[in-house]
Amino acid sequence: MSEINVLDISVANLIAAGEVVDRPASALKELCENSIDAGAKTITAEIKNGGIAFMRVTDDGKGMTGEDAVICVRRHATSKIKTAQDLSAVMTLGFRGEALAAITAVTHTRIMTKRREDSSGTVVTVDYGRLEGAEEGGFPDGTTVICEGLFRTTPARLKFLKSDSAEGAACASVMEKLALSHPEVAFRFIADGQQRFAMSGDGKLKNAIYSVYGRDFASKLCEIDSKSGGISVSGYVGTPDNVRGNRALQIFFINNRCVRNISLTSALEAAFRSFAPIGKYPVCVLNIGLHAAYVDVNIHPAKLDVKFSDEKSIFDAVYYSVRGALERSLKNPSLSPKNPSPMTEEKLKIISAFVSPDAPKHEQTKIDMPFEAKYRPYVPTEKPTDKTESGEFAPVVLPKKVASPDVFDTPKAEEELPKINASTDAKLTGFEPKPVPEYRILGEAFDCYVIIEEGERLFLLDKHAAHERINFEKMKAAISGLKPETQLLMIEEKFTLSPQEREACEKYKKEISDMGFDFSIEDKGVILRGVPCDFELSEGRTFFFSLITSLTESDGSLYADSKNYFERALYQSACKASVKAGRKYDDAHVRWICDNFFRYDCIRRCPHGRPVAYEMTKRELDTRFGRIK
Ligand code: ADP
Ligand code: MG
Repeated sequence: MSEINVLDISVANLIAAGEVVDRPASALKELCENSIDAGAKTITAEIKNGGIAFMRVTDDGKGMTGEDAVICVRRHATSKIKTAQDLSAVMTLGFRGEALAAITAVTHTRIMTKRREDSSGTVVTVDYGRLEGAEEGGFPDGTTVICEGLFRTTPARLKFLKSDSAEGAACASVMEKLALSHPEVAFRFIADGQQRFAMSGDGKLKNAIYSVYGRDFASKLCEIDSKSGGISVSGYVGTPDNVRGNRALQIFFINNRCVRNISLTSALEAAFRSFAPIGKYPVCVLNIGLHAAYVDVNIHPAKLDVKFSDEKSIFDAVYYSVRGALERSLKNPSLSPKNPSPMTEEKLKIISAFVSPDAPKHEQTKIDMPFEAKYRPYVPTEKPTDKTESGEFAPVVLPKKVASPDVFDTPKAEEELPKINASTDAKLTGFEPKPVPEYRILGEAFDCYVIIEEGERLFLLDKHAAHERINFEKMKAAISGLKPETQLLMIEEKFTLSPQEREACEKYKKEISDMGFDFSIEDKGVILRGVPCDFELSEGRTFFFSLITSLTESDGSLYADSKNYFERALYQSACKASVKAGRKYDDAHVRWICDNFFRYDCIRRCPHGRPVAYEMTKRELDTRFGRIK
């Protein structure tokens, strides 16, 4: 009995019509999708001359009867839907019944197919739309489709094709995406006699990514796996140091179908805001799973574009799952000599100058802290032999940048410096504080990079980047209700605002004042009376105004909600108000930054995506200095 039926004209008319075969890659995609729909476990695709001269797709799927093998090349012939209703919940990749009709119309095609349950198979030959014959024959189980001479009879269309290599590259890209969307299928791709990739088909996406994009790419990924409200988001996003200059490697699947969709892209990029450098694009291979009824795949002939019945939920699902995973998985980039990190010989010289493995390690003073994270603060003195209050030795004195005798009682050098108590937790909501380990500040290079020794690790920490991130997270925490204290300005300041700025200021009045800003909106402007305590006054001022300006700029993320939007403005402002490298911090402040760096995993990137710290192990240094092999 025939499985395939020819759709009723009324159903056929409901289908997004259009040319499905415009280049070899689109034909190859359709053939492979048919193989996936047929339940194939192994799919081998081979092309010659970019797929123009020759294309063969072999699968071990369910095959077709002799009767179906003839019907399948007719227009609107499909086994996947029958009625208009079926269109509302398509789970297969194909459903239009047009691909084989279109492909056989523009190539010389042979379809060899056999079902497992049949003793023999069938070969059907179609020459540029004309059925040449159908014969019985001995074939392996599954289906092989061979297409030769694409567009040979339509030179006008042939003319539009690019070079063989460009068409071949497009085919490779199609194959890569198919392989990534179906890691359970063992795909093999051969171009001009050379195997390009062979997937194991073990169902593991990470392995598929490794096979397609290589080891370096696969080693810089962060796993996503979340499910809520009937939407699942799974797969991988690149870590913030695995970003690109374009969006080519942002790969999204909806129910394992590769798609393009603006909400998905903007959700991903919104999630990376403040993690990835400006002007760089995050990479991903993400599969979004949802009930087929909530996604319309029938709006584009090649089924590339999709429409969601609830775009906002999809945006949120992607945004929050990616954001959450990123926040949980941030690590310091390594200073390893093998790692081509932005580390200059100059900086390495500084580290080596500071780290003398033979120098004795002195015990450090232990002070009981009023919070659960106890640690031994670094209490340097002028003379190494000096004993501290508790009678223990202070650590080795370093040539430069030693802290003042008691970091907890340091008088403020300048009035405008934020009032920082070294022991305080920056209280970043949404992040679990970790106990601060014992560490030593060895010194500081260029008034910017703090050199820290902790256990067997050495860190070079950009104190400004770290400070910016802490400020940013504190501001974010403020939106979630932890209002910081306000320090009042001596003289209130009045500023004129444009109508748009005034509107933004009104709209986000609560959020801004929750951050610790004291202000009132006047007829033509705003009066600022106080800024959050953690800010230097001028910093606070700059932050306030750049925040308002940022709130009037749109970034085109259509579905970002107001919280998202506010967060974006926040990060832009953190950028503008960032403290200048080279400014002197008092030692208590530096200590406070370092403490919070250890306490919170989120202090790994500044809000514009630059790294906060580089890390190197003792072992790596020992190796570099030839102490161990
Ligand atoms: P669609 O995939 O939209 O149904 P196609 O023109 O691509 O339309 O294919 C027509 C029909 O031919 C499919 O519905 C399916 O029944 C059958 N078919 C195509 N390719 C294969 C294959 N590789 N294995 C088994 N059946 C196939
Ligand atoms: Mg199809």
